[in-house]
Amino acid sequence: MSAVLSLNDVSVNYAKGRGHVAAVRGVSLELAAGETLGLVGESGSGKSSLASAITGLLPNGAHVTGEVRFEGQDMASLKAEAQRRLRGSAIATIAQDPFTSLNPVTRIGRQLVEFQHWRGEGRRALAARAEEMLTRVGLSDPAARMRQYPHQLSGGIRQRVSIAAALLAGPRLLIADEPTTALDATTEDQIIELIREARRLIDGAVVFITHDMGVVRRLCDRVAVLYAGELVETGPVAEVLARPKHPYTRALLECDPAGIVTPTRHLPTIPGTVPAPSALPAGCIFAPRCVMARSDCTVNKPARRPLGPERASACHFAEEL
Ligand code: ADP
Ligand code: MG
Repeated sequence: MSAVLSLNDVSVNYAKGRGHVAAVRGVSLELAAGETLGLVGESGSGKSSLASAITGLLPNGAHVTGEVRFEGQDMASLKAEAQRRLRGSAIATIAQDPFTSLNPVTRIGRQLVEFQHWRGEGRRALAARAEEMLTRVGLSDPAARMRQYPHQLSGGIRQRVSIAAALLAGPRLLIADEPTTALDATTEDQIIELIREARRLIDGAVVFITHDMGVVRRLCDRVAVLYAGELVETGPVAEVLARPKHPYTRALLECDPAGIVTPTRHLPTIPGTVPAPSALPAGCIFAPRCVMARSDCTVNKPARRPLGPERASACHFAEEL
């Protein structure tokens, strides 16, 4: 089966002083239709930077190297206009803060109609579709919602509206960048359920970005673990979660709130912090925080290597884990 998305040696560079820093380095992965990929890592790992390489919504001063293919087509080979069209509809995003995907000064209804311009239908038909979608994402009285402005809605409802907007764009790839981080636990559950449904609706692929392994467990088929800008482990969720082959993955799993009975936002964390892309350690990038590190780890950088047909890890001692 051909891939919806394929990344080949993708790096994301930001201008810094006279040079640049590479916040994402050498990422390669493939995503097939019907799959949900969890892209997981702590804050500062480069998840949003990698997402921006796919969506093309790069901040000023950023540039991407390597190859981003959507449905087999090299994005860089497309003319700007064709890229823009693809990125506005076939590739849709749901952001952490729905205010970034919704226009604050335009009524919801008008925005949801505009998201569907590609359909070439009349305004009334598009409004009807929008109302139907609002109902699908669990909102009552869609006609009233259509007349409201984003700031009149609660965070959870706003996130539902931005999911409706993303789905109305008719995407074949949906990228959700920590869409539940700003929400309470109950609303988070509902949004996750909604994204599960969304994948069925769009008949495409989903990249779900999170720092939370519990969400990966519940939602994703495959997982790609990003640390300080590099993929350190990839594989099917069931296998990776049962038998992580990288100490960073294992540490993230120990922070998984699934085992914690009382809901709390204060989860255990891994001691230390993700190094900045301008200050990467020698040898293995995770070595300074790794409980398994040996002296060799601070000298020789481990390459990411396959461990069986669908798994890979960038740890010298993957086999021993
Ligand atoms: P995540 O989404 O995993 O938290 P980001 O992609 O936001 O990670 O950031 C990865 C690294 O890139 C961080 O060190 C961050 O400081 C840096 N970075 C992100 N955006 C920019 C930018 N626009 N300019 C310069 N550096 C950036
Ligand atoms: Mg981010």
